[in-house]
Amino acid sequence: MSTIFAKIIAGEAPADIVYRDAQVTCFRDISPRAPTHILIVPNRAIATVNDLTQDDAALVGHMVLVAQRLAAQEGIAQRGYRLVVNCNPEGGQVVYHLHMHLIGGRPLGGVAREDV
Ligand code: AMP
Repeated sequence: MSTIFAKIIAGEAPADIVYRDAQVTCFRDISPRAPTHILIVPNRAIATVNDLTQDDAALVGHMVLVAQRLAAQEGIAQRGYRLVVNCNPEGGQVVYHLHMHLIGGRPLGGVAREDV
């Protein structure tokens, strides 16, 4: 089942793409929750964290390292930021194409806060 993210990756829908390579495409969230809010999205459609396998270990590591680099580019590495992956309805997932949120540029509070 195709999602909006698959369309963005295919160039069939617009997005503010900040980075892409053979494994991931990264673009600014359309509804940002903080001054920096970038989505790190695998080019291959994987629906949720539950669908990852051992074969995806390098991909997941790559996603984190790309997020680390983007945080530095955004100038928020030292101040701090949050990486979030939502899974399924109770985890708050809305788009069923795996993605990691890179959120920062303002104080985010503790992990239990529900506003980010
Ligand atoms: P999640 O709740 O983890 O599934 O997050 C989905 C995110 O995708 C939300 O933060 C949305 O604002 C964002 N989003 C939805 N459609 C688009 C789009 N066309 N371009 C950029 N971000 C989007």
